[in-house]
Parts: sequence; structure tokens; C-alpha cells
Amino acid sequence: MLAAQQRPRLIDERGLRTDGRRPDELRPIRIELGVLKNADGSAIFEMGNTKVIAAVYGPKEMHPRHMALPDRTVLRVRYHMTPFSTDERKNPAPSRREIELSKVIREALESAILTELFPRATIDVFMEVLQADAGTRLVSLMAASMALADAGIPMRDLIAGVAVGKADEVLVLDLNEAEDMWGGADMPIAMMPSLNKVVLFQLNGTMTPEELRQALELAKKGIAEIYQLEKKAIKEKFVEVS
Ligand code: UDP
Repeated sequence: MLAAQQRPRLIDERGLRTDGRRPDELRPIRIELGVLKNADGSAIFEMGNTKVIAAVYGPKEMHPRHMALPDRTVLRVRYHMTPFSTDERKNPAPSRREIELSKVIREALESAILTELFPRATIDVFMEVLQADAGTRLVSLMAASMALADAGIPMRDLIAGVAVGKADEVLVLDLNEAEDMWGGADMPIAMMPSLNKVVLFQLNGTMTPEELRQALELAKKGIAEIYQLEKKAIKEKFVEVS
């Protein structure tokens, strides 16, 4: 680890971040549904320089049959970083981190999908990180949520999420990689916004109870903005098709 004096400054004298954003500002977001012809549902979700493509297959019959559940669909979820998504080539073999994130994302999706509607079936969800600049677990989860909507799979709500962290002791919304690496905390949180339910919550680093309270408020503001963009992307696809 580099000594503190070698760390880059994350907030400048004007109070702006390394990419020119204000502390409470999201990165530019682009969402596109139906980007793959062979999947039942698909989406690209970009948040600044973080770009993820997600594809959904199903619901379909579960093979092998003994893995099927009598009362609900089995979700099979893979989060994966492409070798060219990071500045140093990433080994394409699944890492421990990718296995953990696949599980965390599966649990979040399981709380949103009405899995009881499709007993004995399975739904496959694949997420490929095309470019990583922090926040890939959340952008992947949101890409998956959009791809599921594109596939017409019934859900309680869409999922929107953002990370809040600390850059030079200032609370910042939607961390970039420099802030993720050099900041004092990284708190990714994802919700089903209209139900006010949290589906993913993690914290790396430290926050005081007051910082945590403010961080949650900041995250909710970001999530509300993202949710509007998600709904807009779905409407655009629907209008295009009809
Ligand atoms: N990262 C990387 N190589 C890796 C894992 C992560 O370059 O093998 C970078 C990437 O930009 C990622 C960031 O570190 O987005 C933060 O990773 P973290 O584990 O905090 O997850 P994320 O913020 O992407 O959900």
C-alpha cells in the first residue's frame, strides 16, 4: 500500500471530484434494452466508464431435473469480468470475488423476481463487465434487472443501486475507481425503490453513525434518479416495439 502522501487528492479546492463531479452527482447513465437477438432478454447499462451487458434465458425447464424446486424457479446467476475490462488483463477464469458477487447479485434478484410463478423452472442470468471503473456489482445488478424486464419476467419492482463513499472525508455519490481505491469507505446499496426495500447492502471501510445516516440519504437520492432513467428506458423499448 502506498503511503498517505502518495495518495492522489480526490476533492480539489473548488470542492469537485477527480472527474469534475460535485459530491452528490451521479455519472452519466445510458441504458439500452434488447441488445442481443438470441437471448430472451438483454440490456446494456453504462454508468460513466463502467459498462455491463446482461442476458437472460428463461424461464425454461430445469436440467438436470433433480435440481428443480417444486415451489419456485431456480435462478442461476453469473457475474463475470471480461479480460479487457480492467487496466491489467484479468484472468478469464472465475475468481473468488466473482463467485461472491454472483451470489450477492442472485440474492438481490431473488427478492425481486416472482419466482413462485414458475415452479420447477430455471432462469439463467449472465452479466459481463465490459469496462470497469468501480460500481460493477451494482451496474451488473441493474443491467440484469433491465434484461429481466426486457424478457417480460414478472418482478415486484425494478432494482436501482449506487455506491456512496468517502473521498478526502467528504461523502460522495457513485464512486469512480480512484475514489473506490483511495477513499475512506465504499458502501454499495441497491433497492426496489417503489417498495422502499433494500436488496443489497455492503460496506467496506468505516463510517460514523452520522455519516452512515447521511450516506443512506445520499444513496436514496441517487437511487431515485436512476429509477426514473430505468423506467424511461423500458418505456422507450415498449414504444419502439408497439
Ligand atoms: N477492479 C479491477 N480488477 C479486479 C477487480 C476490481 O481492476 O479484478 C477494479 C474495477 O474498476 C472495479 C473496482 O476495482 O470496478 C472496484 O472493485 P470492487 O471489488 O469494489 O467492486 P465494484 O465496485 O466494481 O462493485
